Formats: sequence, C-alpha cells, structure tokens
Amino acid sequence: MARPPSPRWSSWSGAVKANPAHLVRPESVAELAALVTAVGKRGGTLRPVGTGHAFTPVASAEDTMVLLDALDHDRVDIAPDGRSVTVSGGTTLRVLADRLATAGLAVRRFGDIDGPTIAGALSTGTHDSGSGLGPLHTALEGIELVDGTGTLRWVDEADLPAARLGLGALGVIVRVRLAVTPSVVLATRTAKVRLDDVLADFPHHAADHDLAEFSWLPHTGWARLRLGDITDETPTPSMTVRRAADRVADRGSTWLAGQAARTFPERSGLAAQLLAATTADVASRRPGHEAARALPPLRFQAMAFAVPADVLVPLIRQLEALVARDDLPLVLPVRVRPVAADTSAWLSPMWDRESVVVSVRTVRGMPYTALFRMVQQLCRGFGGRPHWGLMHTLGAEELSGLYPRWDDFASVRRRLDPQGVLESPYLRRVLGPVS
Ligand SMILES: Cc1cc2nc3c(=O)[nH]c(=O)nc-3n(C[C@H](O)[C@H](O)[C@H](O)COP(=O)(O)OP(=O)(O)OC[C@H]3O[C@@H](n4cnc5c(N)ncnc54)[C@H](O)[C@@H]3O)c2cc1C
Repeated sequence: MARPPSPRWSSWSGAVKANPAHLVRPESVAELAALVTAVGKRGGTLRPVGTGHAFTPVASAEDTMVLLDALDHDRVDIAPDGRSVTVSGGTTLRVLADRLATAGLAVRRFGDIDGPTIAGALSTGTHDSGSGLGPLHTALEGIELVDGTGTLRWVDEADLPAARLGLGALGVIVRVRLAVTPSVVLATRTAKVRLDDVLADFPHHAADHDLAEFSWLPHTGWARLRLGDITDETPTPSMTVRRAADRVADRGSTWLAGQAARTFPERSGLAAQLLAATTADVASRRPGHEAARALPPLRFQAMAFAVPADVLVPLIRQLEALVARDDLPLVLPVRVRPVAADTSAWLSPMWDRESVVVSVRTVRGMPYTALFRMVQQLCRGFGGRPHWGLMHTLGAEELSGLYPRWDDFASVRRRLDPQGVLESPYLRRVLGPVS
C-alpha cells in the first residue's frame, strides 16, 4: 500500500504539518507580485510563512505557501539619524538584533526567541514582558506589502492599525520600518518566591521595573519571579555567553521534569515538585534587546490569553484550584507577563487595556487538548483574548465581540484582498470569510 507523502512543511512545535501543492521562494518583489497575481487569476490561494514558530495553522496553506527567505534576504538599512531601521520581511529577529547591536541600537520587544522572522512576529502580535512595553508592532512605523491583488504598496497611514497585526491576511510583507533606540543592558534577577507573595506584590513589581514577569510552578505554592532594570552599562559579549549558560542550566531542569511527566503522566505533580526543588536564584546582566539564542530543543505546545491586569489574582487562584482539584497534567511553569495597553493595532490582544498574558505549555508528546480547553474557558471568563500565534479554539463569531475595531479590520482586508487569495481554512475560522 502506498504511504501518504510526508509533509513538506512542519511548524516548530511539530503540531502543524502542511503539504501545499506549491512551496515557492520568490527571489524578487516582482516575482512575488507576479506569483500573487497568477494565483489569483487561477482562483487559487496563497499563504506567506516565516520560520513556523506559530503554534497554530495560521501560516498553513493547501495551495501555495510562500517563503520569504530568498527575497532581499537580511536587508537591514539603518536610517542616517539612527532612529529607525528598514528591514526585509523574511529577516530573522536574530539577524536584525545582531545588525542593530553593531550600531549600538535595539528594538526591545522581541520576546523569548530570535528564530522568528520580523514579518511573522509582527503578524501574530509578538510581545515581551514589562508593563511599560507594548507589543512589537508598537515599534512599527511602516509596512510595504504585496496585497492580495498582486499590487506592491506602502500601507497608507490610515490602514496601518490593520496591517500592524494582520495574520498575513492583508498581503505578503516585504519590508517594514521600525523605530529603534540605543541598546541598553538589563540587570535581571530570578528568585524562587512563594506564589502568595508574588501575587500580593506583582502590581508593584510591574510598575517599578523595566522587566517583570513570573512563572507559577504548578502543583506547588512556588513561583519564579524575574525582575530586570535598565542600567547605564555597555553591552559586552561575555554577558551573552553568561546568559546562555544560565538558560542552558534552566532548560536542563525543565527538560528533566518534562520528560519525567511525559513518561509517568499520572505523576505530573511529582515532576513539577522536582522542578520547584531544583529552581535556583540567578542574577545576570544582558543586552536588553537579546532574545534567546538557539538552545537544546525543548519542544512544547502552548496557549496564551491576554487578560486585564486587574484580574490576575482571581485568575491564578482559580487555575491553582482547578489544577489541584483535577490533578491536571501540568508541569511546565505557567508564565505571567505584563504588557502595556495598546491602541495601535485593531487586532491587538492588549487593545485598550493594561494586560497580563498567561501562558500554559505542555511538553511535546503529552496530551494538551482537554487541559488547554479548561484554561481557555477560565481565561474567557475573565475577558481574555487569545494570542494570535498560540493555540485556542475560538472562531470569528466569538473573536469579533472581543475587538471593538473588528469591522474596520475586515473592511481593510476586503479592500486589500477582495478575492480572498490569502484565505485559508484556519483564517476563515478565526477571521471569517473575506466577504
Ligand atoms: C519557543 C517559542 C517561543 C516564543 N516566544 C514568544 C514570546 O516570547 N512572545 C510572543 O508573543 N510570542 C512568542 N512565540 C510565538 C512566535 O513569536 C509567533 O508565533 C511568531 O509569529 C512566529 O514568527 P514566524 O516567523 O515563525 O512566523 P510563522 O509562524 O511562520 O507565521 C506566523 C504568521 O505570520 C504570517 N507571516 C509570516 N511571514 C509573513 C510575511 N512576510 N507577510 C505577511 N505575513 C507573514 C503568517 O502568514 C502567519 O499568519 C514563541 C514561539 C515559540 C515557538
């Protein structure tokens, strides 16, 4: 019996696989524009993809999948006044951060890892941790894209709130312009603290520090609290090496706990306690722009909801009660990250409210569907909006009620992609059909 063909594309987490009829790497904008026009003419569909770090099929395509890594690859132009950078859409955050660092500059909103592309990270609302820091797209000043009709355009000022976070539904981003700032050094410290104490003090921590976040260690009363402050030091290479070493040590214990839970799921509580027992306090200094470098792979599935900052305590208390009551197989730390209110992007999960993003992860190979549904229900009860790159089961009908400017986004989408060339089954689920 013939075996089904192996998927030609797989996401970072391995949960999403795609076998598109065409996997294309245009080498010029003209080639890309001709491709979009041709796909539209034959009534097909096309999806841009970055490096596949989204946990959902948001980049998946059945017909044509477009990779941007051969197009103007790694073009990074710093403005003469040093206040902005123009970069090709398929450039990874690592390349961008490195190029900016050599000029003493940074964009301090990259999130945890530097593997994603700038276009992919923008398109799903990627964010970092800090109540004074909006998501990455708040640094965005301009976008050039090939829209669904095959037209190359710098997006009009009036359409930028749609294009800043567009899920690849408005066009294929070829270049973006971002505001940059001088690079800084963050002095960070991570401490093991009782969850009760973290919850009591977190609003103050978030207000007082440039970086603040915590991770609850499930099945225990402990949390890891991470705080960071901008210093006036100059970044040095040894800071990067030291930080990488700290992260490898941290990864090691998380990996062990994860493997133990995967092998003995009924003993997840024990594995979580092992993780708490091996959690150590760490202090370090690091260039503030740096997301994590490649590390030993700890693949996981993830979900996250942005909830109003003032519901943090009841939400975590209810999650704690749920985990204890049902002995849920939750081992990896539950991460809580504050993000500033944002009205720059109509589909921003932080739209018009100070938020905390609560993220739940499971080691790859462990069941997650039931667990994620429970956490989703809990977060929805507190007005949560899902992260656009992480797992959730909401559809357009429910999502439309969470975003006051939903119809404005839909109208820009209709104008830039009238035929639905950029549609996919997943986009139809979360955004609805183009018309
Ligand atoms: C280990 C890990 C850590 C993470 N940490 C964080 C974090 O700290 N904070 C956070 O907020 N998120 C985080 N994420 C989520 C991740 O940053 C986002 O999912 C991001 O979208 C990934 O970028 P990508 O290049 O991999 O895009 P992909 O996953 O390939 O695509 C994502 C979306 O971008 C669109 N897209 C890609 N390229 C283009 C283009 N050129 N034009 C138009 N649309 C395009 C796709 O169509 C799709 O809709 C993490 C993910 C992983 C796996």
